[in-house]
Amino acid sequence: MRYISTRGAAPALDFRDVTLAGLAADGGLYVPETWPSFSRDEIAALAGLSYVDTAVAVMTPFVGDSLTPDELKALCTAAYGRFAHAAVTPLVQLDHDQWLLELFHGPTLAFKDVALQLLGLLFEKFLSGSDKHVTIVGATSGDTGSAAIDAVAGRAGIDIFMLHPEGRVSDVQRRQMTTVGAPNVHNIAIRGDFDQAQALVKAMFNDPAFAGRFNLSAVNSINWARLMAQVVYYFYAAVRLGAPGRAVAFSVPTGNFGDVFAGYVAAKMGLPVAKLVVATNVNDILHRALSSGDYSTGTVVPTPTPSMDIQVSSNFERLLFDLGGRDGAALAAQMHGFERARAMQLSNAQREGAAGLFASERVDVDDMALAMRWASEHAGQVIDPHSAIGLCAARRQADHVPMVTLATAHPAKFRDAVERATGVRPALPARVGDLFEREERYVTLDATFAAVSDYIAGLATPRG
Ligand SMILES: *Cc1c(COP(=O)(O)O)cnc(C)c1O
Repeated sequence: MRYISTRGAAPALDFRDVTLAGLAADGGLYVPETWPSFSRDEIAALAGLSYVDTAVAVMTPFVGDSLTPDELKALCTAAYGRFAHAAVTPLVQLDHDQWLLELFHGPTLAFKDVALQLLGLLFEKFLSGSDKHVTIVGATSGDTGSAAIDAVAGRAGIDIFMLHPEGRVSDVQRRQMTTVGAPNVHNIAIRGDFDQAQALVKAMFNDPAFAGRFNLSAVNSINWARLMAQVVYYFYAAVRLGAPGRAVAFSVPTGNFGDVFAGYVAAKMGLPVAKLVVATNVNDILHRALSSGDYSTGTVVPTPTPSMDIQVSSNFERLLFDLGGRDGAALAAQMHGFERARAMQLSNAQREGAAGLFASERVDVDDMALAMRWASEHAGQVIDPHSAIGLCAARRQADHVPMVTLATAHPAKFRDAVERATGVRPALPARVGDLFEREERYVTLDATFAAVSDYIAGLATPRG
């Protein structure tokens, strides 16, 4: 399997190199050259498999020759062995047609663990036996940072620099990042919002002087391996609800468009997906893009769902590339126009292509709180605010097919918001330990390229 850039001007890579690289050198994102396809029989054969065996089956075509089947299985067994539920991602039924897919049983209480626990092991595997040192630079709205740090803390050959927007992540999220004592973990609070932090990371990858000095790696959902790991749970859930004999719909609380893009990949591979509901909060660029073709940024409004407080959704580029006939030059021109004007219109092909599979909903804070109360009163489930955005959208789009809302975070990760909506203050699960006793360690920097790149350059290990 080879991977090509959405902007058509970077070298094609194999799975190993695409995992270590993250962003493509031409500013684009890597996607598989072709989508692997599963027949009906191959999907039917997934019935009853464990999560690990499902993961191996779904990911094998993407991994190609970069890992043997035994190596892939060993990595999945180790990654998913750290989850606190034997099913890894259990399904919970809410009413006749509505289900929750609980993706938060990993070490840092959000769905990012599903991909990042594997990614940390992939990095270690691909670096072992070489004296290559990688410098991971990432931006987080809270959950990617904690999951990535947990996945690589203390691992040889890796340093991680994680930028988060100061004061815009929950206390649990921040402490999960800043109380990890490992010397290879570096936290930076940015005086700005998530989009500024993300833009700084992009600028460092695209700056030849800076990027030339270090082996930079990305752990944001621009990293293909993360999306690949997320495709697995769409298969796992759909097969449990009757696929391939029955189509299943998914509602996905969306920020950077990574999680829901993994659902699109599953559909491209042949999984019968009836609909993908893109659920946004009031930061609704994706809802506007999908409902009217208008992809234009506003200013970020802070909400109780910080992991979705995003205006520019990096992975949307992957969808636009695929729907626009995979024309890298045309997409590069479209994206450069967007980067200048902070706005663009989707082409007709992009709009019509998206309309076949995607629906979208914008959910405000009041409706989010109502969904949390509904889950608690009608189904006995205390859910987090992000999952509630997804559930509200799912109930609006209900259509007599099984509808699975991705429950992206544990309610305890956002205890204050859950308590405000439901009156219940969720307890922190035992696996997070003494989070509130541990000492925090981070620096606070201005949201400028100079401040951040100088700080990182002073601590990172240069290329050998
Ligand atoms: C990251 C995250 C999201 C958004 O996922 P994307 O892949 O960025 O669209 C939603 N909910 C939670 C809890 C998250 O951590």
